[in-house]
Amino acid sequence: MTLKFYSIWGWMPVLSVSVRRLPGRLVGACLGPLIVLDRSHDDDWPTIVHELEHCKQFWKRGAIVHFALYYLSHRYRLSSELDAYCAELRACTPAERGPRLDDSARALAVGYGLSLDAASCRRLLLASLTSDQPLAGLPAAKPLA
Ligand SMILES: [Zn+2]
Repeated sequence: MTLKFYSIWGWMPVLSVSVRRLPGRLVGACLGPLIVLDRSHDDDWPTIVHELEHCKQFWKRGAIVHFALYYLSHRYRLSSELDAYCAELRACTPAERGPRLDDSARALAVGYGLSLDAASCRRLLLASLTSDQPLAGLPAAKPLA
């Protein structure tokens, strides 16, 4: 087990715990003020950024509201994950961003009970990522139907 500290908003500490293996396909999880990472990803900065984004969501809404909405509302869970995956993809180099977009879309489609396919998740991620400005390494977003 490895412990590290990161911070969100430049001042709030977040404890990171790296464990030998997380269950299933999980490579990271946010447990409020701490993140747990599978050892295979404990140096993967985009994954760390993804989990730190969930820490921000936890503190912005408060623990009970965030976790209740996350587990009870598909819309909130989708919004939370889109924000976290967008933060993750922004933390990638342009060269790794395209392949990681596809991996993220597949993970979002199968791992969160959202009843969305990978193509829909990819379109949602791309639209969220490029709504303000183009992002190096990604194709332009097509309008959502
Ligand atoms: Zn997530």
